[in-house]
Order: sequence, then C-alpha cells, then structure tokens
Amino acid sequence: MASAQILNGFHANPKPLNTEKKLILAVIGRDVLVPVNVLDGNTVLIDDEMADQLKFFCQRSLLIGQWQGNDCQVWALSTEAKAAKDFKLVELRSLLASSGDEEFTIACRAVQLLDWQDKHQYCGSCGVVMEASATEHAMRCEPCNINNYPRISPCVIVVVTRGNQCLLARQPSWPDGMFSTLAGFIEAGESAEQALHREVYEEVGVEITNIRYVGSQSWPYPGQLMLGFIADAVTDEIVVDGIEISEAHWCNYDDLPHYVPPPTIMSGRLIKQFVDEASANQ
Ligand SMILES: [Zn+2]
Repeated sequence: MASAQILNGFHANPKPLNTEKKLILAVIGRDVLVPVNVLDGNTVLIDDEMADQLKFFCQRSLLIGQWQGNDCQVWALSTEAKAAKDFKLVELRSLLASSGDEEFTIACRAVQLLDWQDKHQYCGSCGVVMEASATEHAMRCEPCNINNYPRISPCVIVVVTRGNQCLLARQPSWPDGMFSTLAGFIEAGESAEQALHREVYEEVGVEITNIRYVGSQSWPYPGQLMLGFIADAVTDEIVVDGIEISEAHWCNYDDLPHYVPPPTIMSGRLIKQFVDEASANQ
C-alpha cells in the first residue's frame, strides 16, 4: 500500500486490509449522517463503536478504501436512522464547507459507488442480474464474462481571461446575482482541449487560446470529474446561447459579482487563481 502521506490520508482501495479499527461513513439516500460531536478531528467518519446504534438501520455496506490506514466502509441506512441521537443529516455539497477535501472525497466516492450499484443491477448486453465482484469495485456478468466498472464522466471547467478581466456567466435557473465560470461535459471522442474550445464558443461565442491546466475535482452529481483550466480569450464579443447561459460579462478582478463560488469547489478555485494572478501583476 502506498503511504498515507502520498495519498493524503485516503486510499481508494477496493480490498480490505482487515484493520482492527474500522471507520464508517453513514448515508441516507445521497445525504450523509454526521456525528454532532466530532471524532479525532474527522467530521464525517465514525468508529464502529459509535456506529453500533446505526447497525439496525444498515441496508447495505460497501468497503470504500482506507482512511489513515484504517478500513473505511459506507453504510446505506434506511430513512428511520434520521432520528438517531447525536447525529445530523447533511447534504453532500455542504460537507465541502465543513470538512476537509479528503473527507469530501471519501463521501463523494461512497455516494457514487452506491449510486452506481443501484443503477447497474442488470447486464447491459444480456440483461441478467449482475453480482458485485468480491475482489474489486465492479458488477460482474458471468454469462458475458465481463466486469462493469463505475462510470466517471469528465467535464471541463474554465475561467476565460482577458487581461485584468475574466468571463463569468450565469445559467437561467441560478439565483439572482450568482455568476460562475463556464463548464461542460467532454463529448465522446473529444480531447479536453477540444471540449474547452467548443463549450466556450457554444455558450458565449468567444474563441480561446493558451489553455493551462489548473487541477481536478471529483463531483458526485453523478460521477463527474471536473478538469479545471485557465485560458486566454482571442475574441471578446460575448454572444450568449440563451439556453445554458442567460447572461455573461467581462468582470474586473477587483470588481467581481457578489455571488461567485467559494474556492472549495473548482469554479471558485479558478476564479481565485485568476484574481491572485491579476492582482500580482498590478
Ligand atoms: Zn451479460
């Protein structure tokens, strides 16, 4: 096993190490049941002793890997567990603000694996009921002799810049005043760069160049992998598509809209990087 340090504490391993201490992530539907009193600095994981009172409600459990060297399982609980003393139910998304990146990663992985199992009960080729593989995270069809793995959908997300300005846009369904970067799914057969050129052009009519990779983030709605970039604009006239994007503007780095995403999520991280770079150039 690679060192916990390299893996930031979390190892997405499908095999148990059978450690003495076990950690549990409790979920109800797609929400996480977190302890009111935090354990060892963890905000989402509970030890098996504490999990004991939830055992009765556990409908399915799945190993999701190791956290700081200890086996870590997700328990899918029935809704009655909501009433459990000393716990509160939180949305996955809100964990980003209250827990660390690694804990959010664990929770994302757990919820994605459960969701994927729910939606992959039958073989897509022959239609028989598949079984969960004993050795890896896969649903197995014996007649076809194939393993089906969790599907991850890559998306590109980009802050397009023009000197001291960046392009921020809003979708029609967002609350008033909320703006963010542009994003979209990579189409089958496309490279990330091609997807960036296409998405930006389709949504706001702007051409881009000098694409720089910033980082990535798993995003469980469902199974997305956000690949974050900064790019320079070649053209500056904005023509919104009116469907995915209702409004878009060039915004000065020191005069951004009131509501932009926090740096805990990729869009906010990109905006922050642009602001940091622009202010350093003053
Ligand atoms: Zn099959």
